[in-house]
Amino acid sequence: MAELDRTRTEVDVPGDWTYASAPESRDIVRIADSYGYYVGGEWLEPAETYETIAPRDEEPLAAIGQATAEDVGRAVVAAREAFADGWSALPGSERAKYLFRIARILQERSREFAVLESLNGGKPIKESRDVDIPLAAAHFFYYAGWADKLEYAFPNRRPRPVGVAGQIIPWNFPLLMLAWKIAPALACGNTVVLKPAETTPLTALLFCDVLRQAELPAGVVNIVTGDGRTGAAIVEHEDIDKIAFTGSTEVGKAIQRHVAGTGKRLTLELGGKAANIVFDDAALDQAVEGIVNGIYFNQGHVCCAGSRLFVQESIYEPLVAKLERRLTTLRVGDPLDKNTDVGAINSAAQLEKIQELVASGIEEGAEIYQPPCVLPEKGYWFVPTVFTNVAQSYRIAQEEIFGPVLSVLTFRTPEEAVEKANNTPYGLSAGVWTEKGSRILWMAQRLRAGVVWANTFNRFDPGSPFGGYKESGFGREGGRHGLEPYLRFDE
Ligand code: NDP
Repeated sequence: MAELDRTRTEVDVPGDWTYASAPESRDIVRIADSYGYYVGGEWLEPAETYETIAPRDEEPLAAIGQATAEDVGRAVVAAREAFADGWSALPGSERAKYLFRIARILQERSREFAVLESLNGGKPIKESRDVDIPLAAAHFFYYAGWADKLEYAFPNRRPRPVGVAGQIIPWNFPLLMLAWKIAPALACGNTVVLKPAETTPLTALLFCDVLRQAELPAGVVNIVTGDGRTGAAIVEHEDIDKIAFTGSTEVGKAIQRHVAGTGKRLTLELGGKAANIVFDDAALDQAVEGIVNGIYFNQGHVCCAGSRLFVQESIYEPLVAKLERRLTTLRVGDPLDKNTDVGAINSAAQLEKIQELVASGIEEGAEIYQPPCVLPEKGYWFVPTVFTNVAQSYRIAQEEIFGPVLSVLTFRTPEEAVEKANNTPYGLSAGVWTEKGSRILWMAQRLRAGVVWANTFNRFDPGSPFGGYKESGFGREGGRHGLEPYLRFDE
């Protein structure tokens, strides 16, 4: 025993287990000084440009075109011609070949895309490398598989393409949202005019090179860049048959008002304020990982983020203690470092919105917890935050923060959990943590959310439909359901 004790004291245990930095090289990425619009398979020169930056240090990356209504018009003409000139009449098996090619090229160039996504958007490289890019490729593979089987997906209904689709996407998953939009549209025989978000255009512009490599016929996919004005020009263009929009509820409502009565098809994927519900029989350590993944993944810039945590009262204290302890181990910093868990906030405007809502939480009386954390001096950063003592009426429990901020509330019974979880204008997603299978089913039937995860959170698969209720929008993306908005069935 004496021998053992002596041995133990002699072992040299490091007191500090911090990670060494492990930066991913950005040499693989070539960024041009400026970019135009990809229209009809060619690059058009923009008359006006703005600068896109890296949110981690505000480094200017490239000059990006601000497309006008005339530029959008040219893209629509190119898309219409490509639709009429053969793409819509191409056998599904031929369309599938292009989609398979795009998917394979994305896989081959995945490191390049991951680095560029993290640089321009601020998300940790391990997320763009392990989630965004593989899932984007998976969407193209998945919808390639449907392209020649549409008659089987919709038996006896004569599915045909809708025409030209105008697609507008946000900045939180730039390439993945592009894949969600373009893959089903092309599989169904439509052509596309797509606008990436103002702050994150670079992977959509690199994607044009993938289209060139895949030898996709000119005009089938057209990419125009710019701010909300370019998006509005797409919505207002008379020769577009379908609008697919992902973004804020506010802009979604404006688009719906505009499209009403025009005969244009519309799908809206909007905001969320998801409930993540933990019962007292749940595996707590596993639940803590799910809570962390639910709200701190992608800095909380996730429409389906589990931003409202409902904890059964009997386990409130141990769960919050475990959660706060886990927060101290999250590594916030350089998005290109492979050890980073929480990257940079996407833009100054988004950081301001997060700060304003967090200030309102403190003002209204919630208790804030933020782990000790040294933030980089330049760029846009926010410390992962937990609010306890939150009332349902507080803004932080009602409004979408779209940042790494969690509001913790409690409940006693399953009925109370359902009532509180549904007390929101949104209805995109929810999570349930319990060992009881019957309770999962009982809850899933009552939660008004498009997706309900059980003992996990933020899981995505191209075969699984995704979309909302209420102010979270309508229409589904992913799965067989995701084909329907891009098809018409009239004779
Ligand atoms: P916005 O609604 O402002 O932007 C979304 C896209 O629409 C961007 O490309 C934007 O351009 C464009 N846009 C802006 N104004 C108009 C307009 N008047 N007409 C047409 N297009 C327009 O949202 P954010 O980019 O700020 O994204 C954050 C919000 O989006 C959050 O509320 C989040 O919940 C929601 N979201 C929902 C998702 C879902 O799947 N349901 C997924 C991701 C985000 P620009 O970039 O220039 O502003």
